[in-house]
Amino acid sequence: MDVWEIDIGGTVVCDFCNDDYTESDMQGGLIIDGYAVCPRCEKPEMIKEATHVCRTGESFRQFVLRNRENNKIGVYSW
Ligand SMILES: [Zn+2]
Repeated sequence: MDVWEIDIGGTVVCDFCNDDYTESDMQGGLIIDGYAVCPRCEKPEMIKEATHVCRTGESFRQFVLRNRENNKIGVYSW
């Protein structure tokens, strides 16, 4: 059963601390195996494991939304 008809829209939440970044312009963060890691949870040693890393000058929100569009596999059902 898949209930992912719900439109998650522009909601961006850190998968580590669950902080909501939908209204935030904080820059940085990365994605590891489909998990979004916000700038505050990000650790230098995570970089080598990261699937995607935020571009310079890009906000965490923009970064996550960009990769969500390009990679539907990153949107899973739970
Ligand atoms: Zn976080």
